[in-house]
Amino acid sequence: MYNPNKLKASIEAFHSELTEIRRDIHTHPEHAYKEHRTAALVAERLKAYGVDEVHTGVGGTGVVGVIKGSRAGARNVGLRADMDCLAMSEETKLPWASKNIGYMHACGHDGHTTMLLGAAKYLAKTRNFSGNVYCVFQPAEEGQAGAKAMLDDGLLERFPIHAFYGLHNAPWVPLGKMAVRNGAMMAAADRIEIVVEGKGGHGGMPQFSADPILAAGHVLTAIQSIASRNVDPADSVVVSVCGIEGGVMNTYNVIPRQVRMVGTVRTYRKETQALVKQKLELIVANTCAALGCTGSVEFMNGYPATINHKREAELSADVGREVFGPDNVITEIFPNTGGEDFAFFLEAVPGAYIWVGQKTDTSFPIHHSCYDFDDRIIPSGAGLLAAIAERELVS
Ligand SMILES: [Zn+2]
Ligand SMILES: [Zn+2]
Repeated sequence: MYNPNKLKASIEAFHSELTEIRRDIHTHPEHAYKEHRTAALVAERLKAYGVDEVHTGVGGTGVVGVIKGSRAGARNVGLRADMDCLAMSEETKLPWASKNIGYMHACGHDGHTTMLLGAAKYLAKTRNFSGNVYCVFQPAEEGQAGAKAMLDDGLLERFPIHAFYGLHNAPWVPLGKMAVRNGAMMAAADRIEIVVEGKGGHGGMPQFSADPILAAGHVLTAIQSIASRNVDPADSVVVSVCGIEGGVMNTYNVIPRQVRMVGTVRTYRKETQALVKQKLELIVANTCAALGCTGSVEFMNGYPATINHKREAELSADVGREVFGPDNVITEIFPNTGGEDFAFFLEAVPGAYIWVGQKTDTSFPIHHSCYDFDDRIIPSGAGLLAAIAERELVS
């Protein structure tokens, strides 16, 4: 029988053990596809918890734990955690701060891994569901598409998942609350590189050259018209140029031959993404041509938008009200323009991605050198994952 109160009490009982695990992973952060120690720890814990099968090396360093329900069933649920850290230095000065210099769990993936271990321990002990639960611990969420690597390695063929759930700690959602919405949760995160070619020459005699710095300046301004003039005001888009390179700084009178700009584009809809790409090409080529230069854009697709499926988003919110309390589930929330590779899973199977709040007066944002995952959210996060699995696979 599905009993959320019993479930919450069981998971609370693991809180100190899980906190220890979380801090241990935090002390030993590992970067994309190098999560060897973390993967070994996960596999060892899963076996100790009595998980039926533990598969390692899926999509590089990924681990999948299979937990069979007490009854046969036609449906299986996937629960996902990410294991990788960021290549940045930690400044928290906490007793459990990183010992791997230059690397840090600044996005809380140490906490996600721990919460999924907590859910696995509970589910392996109680087996109060039908079918299978697949606990998916993925590598390389930060920019290197570990989710896609697992899919390319046959994740869904080997482990047929009918509904896939993942969560992320959210220092922008109050502690004690969670947020989930139908539709977009995170944006598609694409990269752009714009190259403006001119003709170098003497800065004092510009009539004999074609100035790529002037053309780049016009391009920079003109591409902001995509958001304000081309995209539906009710839709959202970000076009940011984040780096410009051109000329030399120790001469004052040389017009360079080339200027290079790099940046990012964020969209929620494939149509908008295609529109931005097309407008960028037009604006860059024509603005540069008008100023005697040539311009090109390379548009590099990154993670797709993370789009929750309706049924799974609603089920997550329902279960969340039981785990977090009836007033602690936020469904009226804007999507976020960050990127997330859980998007690849949601393109392949139905599912939902959930934010678990950890915002307090003293919390730091993710990717900040003083950030730390808040251990107080471990039981509710682990409980949410376990309860979703039980609710999905109730027979
Ligand atoms: Zn991150
Ligand atoms: Zn993250």
